[in-house]
Amino acid sequence: MAKEFRRIGVLTSGGDAPGMNAALRAVTRAAIDKGVEVMGIYEGYKGLVHPQLKRFTSRDVSNIISRGGTALYSNRCLEFKEEEGMQKAIQTCRDNEIDGIIAIGGDGTFRGATDLSLRGIPTIGIPGTIDNDITSTEYSIGFDTAVNTAIEMIDRLRDTCESHARCNVVEIMGRNAGWVALEAGIATGASAIVINEIQFDEDKVINQILEAKKNNKRNFIVCIAEGVPAALGDKLYSEKFAKRFEEKTGIETKFVRLAHVLRGGDPTMRDRCIATQMGSEAVRLLLEGKSDLVVGMRNGELISTEISYALKLDRMYKGTLKEGDLDNFTEEQIAEMKAYCAKRHADLEKLYNIAYEMAH
Ligand code: ADP
Repeated sequence: MAKEFRRIGVLTSGGDAPGMNAALRAVTRAAIDKGVEVMGIYEGYKGLVHPQLKRFTSRDVSNIISRGGTALYSNRCLEFKEEEGMQKAIQTCRDNEIDGIIAIGGDGTFRGATDLSLRGIPTIGIPGTIDNDITSTEYSIGFDTAVNTAIEMIDRLRDTCESHARCNVVEIMGRNAGWVALEAGIATGASAIVINEIQFDEDKVINQILEAKKNNKRNFIVCIAEGVPAALGDKLYSEKFAKRFEEKTGIETKFVRLAHVLRGGDPTMRDRCIATQMGSEAVRLLLEGKSDLVVGMRNGELISTEISYALKLDRMYKGTLKEGDLDNFTEEQIAEMKAYCAKRHADLEKLYNIAYEMAH
């Protein structure tokens, strides 16, 4: 028999993303709809370590579905990672009679969710990060808005590139995944897209652009994911690339970095709708007695995945598995994880190849 829930807590943690407010609203309203009280926890896990909570009514989440940022604020709370901080957080839950928590954020947030679940506070995660870098779900709240913001910016750059027959190298936020750069690049007709997931040859890109120039193309956009300079250990890689590109091609080249600007702004319809669905689903799972799960989406359907599975799947996809990581999984599960990672990479590669098919 599932535990009876009288009061749950909700928090947003880690990097913020447009649509987190829509998820917060959905969690609050879905819980109240089921007769469960809601406590808003401020500044992520910090609001549990150093109690900062407020009882939320439906009116406390009025008019936030359309707003970027997070009304609960966010924080990277290192204290919570230590046992002492964790115990303070558990005590805050007990003091406030919080029976379960919904945590909206990324990988780090889910690690915290597991820690709470293991210590008797059932916790469900909702993926919120513009990077779309949570492998267990095909969609993370904030991605659509971030890509659309990038598109708006790049379209503007492209207009002026066309007038002046220029190139603009655009570095795009996304440290652990190149999805934002890839999809924004496709949608803006970029001449080249550089992401960590796919091997890249600078000379090939340059030659391809020179070919397109011969074909009377005047504007050139090169999208580079933030993860590329990070992986190369050279923060200024994209800027240097722009300089090299100008020297080698004779095409005047500008550089711009789209970073935190992509994290703000009003969420798109897609982010509002998916956040609402995920928020409602997270409440349903929690009240059903589930714990230590992260909500997600596959093939347009809502799914949920055990957090330990999701975190290992993520490492498998990013090639960062550590010894012993898969020890607790069956052969069947490992095969399933490998197949999923292969499909996700194949989907990305397909999009990448289409982008190059268009780039002349
Ligand atoms: P994101 O959730 O976007 O990945 P972070 O990695 O910064 O962002 O994690 C957000 C917060 O989650 C951290 O500030 C910390 O409070 C908590 N957290 C991160 N990693 C762990 C961990 N290993 N154990 C417990 N809590 C963690």
